[in-house]
Amino acid sequence: MTIPFVDIAIVGGGPGGLALAHGLRKHGIDVAVFERDHVRADYVQGFRLRIRQRGLDALAANLPPHLYNAFLETIGIAPSESIALDERFNLLSSTASAHDREDTHVAKSVSRITLRQILLSDLDDVFHAGRAFERYEEQEDGTVIAWFKDGSAIRTNLLVGADGANSVVRRQLLPDFRVIDTGMRRLAGKMALSAAAAHDISPLLIDYNAGIQPANGRRMMITSHRVDAAAHARHDLIGRDDPTHNDITGAHFDNTTSYIWWNTAYERDELASDDLLDTMDGQGLLDLLVDHIADWDDRIVRLIRHSDPSTVALLKVRTSVPGAVWATGPVTLLGDAIHSMTYFKALGGNTALYDAGLLTRELVAARRNGKPQAQAVHDYEEAMREHGYEAVRGSLAAMLNNATATRPALDVAAE
Ligand SMILES: Cc1cc2nc3c(=O)[nH]c(=O)nc-3n(C[C@H](O)[C@H](O)[C@H](O)COP(=O)(O)OP(=O)(O)OC[C@H]3O[C@@H](n4cnc5c(N)ncnc54)[C@H](O)[C@@H]3O)c2cc1C
Repeated sequence: MTIPFVDIAIVGGGPGGLALAHGLRKHGIDVAVFERDHVRADYVQGFRLRIRQRGLDALAANLPPHLYNAFLETIGIAPSESIALDERFNLLSSTASAHDREDTHVAKSVSRITLRQILLSDLDDVFHAGRAFERYEEQEDGTVIAWFKDGSAIRTNLLVGADGANSVVRRQLLPDFRVIDTGMRRLAGKMALSAAAAHDISPLLIDYNAGIQPANGRRMMITSHRVDAAAHARHDLIGRDDPTHNDITGAHFDNTTSYIWWNTAYERDELASDDLLDTMDGQGLLDLLVDHIADWDDRIVRLIRHSDPSTVALLKVRTSVPGAVWATGPVTLLGDAIHSMTYFKALGGNTALYDAGLLTRELVAARRNGKPQAQAVHDYEEAMREHGYEAVRGSLAAMLNNATATRPALDVAAE
């Protein structure tokens, strides 16, 4: 069997892997992306992603100008001001949204589906769906052979595992790496803005990032994501309903409708046992949450009660344990594959994009300016570990802070 060769092989076509592919192509570097799934329909794909400065900078650097322009033009419109309310709907505070130190702008609200449409554009010849990576073999000549479940293989100078939190590449490279359950259980759901009008949802819950801070109990975040249909019309498929979701019932992957959405998180066993939660559909989870917050102001309860059940699901919040260090070789990792984190600071996707920007710069130095590949990958890994592990720790701290001050610390906090 003749095994085809590609200079850089990326496993995983998520935001990180695809942004890297664009960056390398922009500099004429031979690259191929191998993605397991033909359709991306995991639950969170139906929501927006908050893109912050580090993600934005990486997209600007890696995308060709027309796609970066399409990205900017199809960004959703989200509230820029925040309010805090208690569960009785009393206003606790009101602020213009604060930026983190690194941000010079309010985080952008980007549909994950639209972002994927942008990132998949112009990659037809290098993007291969239906190729589930299985294992790799390092060769004596310094190359690597990657094997896929369908029996096919590719030989490459550098294998990049960008295959997400359950990375198969990482499992082989770092068998002792740990991803752990934080014990938090997240519930989220959406209501179309048209339905919000029918249910007389308060503008305070639509036009602000509203943080509900009950005297006792769990916090809830409520905000909105508005779609500008006119902007999308200028960009063909980008921002439209994605044909790959046509066979999925319900409105969760509807990419053209503006919506209000909420999320909240409870401790394990607080709402119900995991075994019971696992059996519940969206409507069952909504009923459970409504029971739990029955004494809250009706303006909040009404939003939950009338949310679209097809958009509701429960997620076990996980984090990786930061700190892994390894000897540089012809296999490396990027994004959630090496630093998956809780969603509490909206950093995971941004950090994956940032990695893609870093690795692109290093590989351009290697292929265009004579820097040895091993040195380039080593320098990427050092920088990636520093900012990636810091993001993991920061997002865990934010989760602990948000959940409850009395919660026992997880062991990752100390590592
Ligand atoms: C509830 C929630 C909210 C979030 N909100 C935000 C936010 O607002 N902002 C933010 O920046 N981040 C957010 N994140 C984090 C963000 O979703 C992830 O960090 C981001 O998707 C990571 O991108 P990635 O490319 O590294 O991996 P992924 O997006 O996980 O992509 C990995 C890809 O690899 C493919 N793959 C997996 N295994 C194989 C295999 N064996 N062979 C081939 N392909 C494979 C998968 O199909 C997938 O396409 C949130 C996460 C959650 C859970």
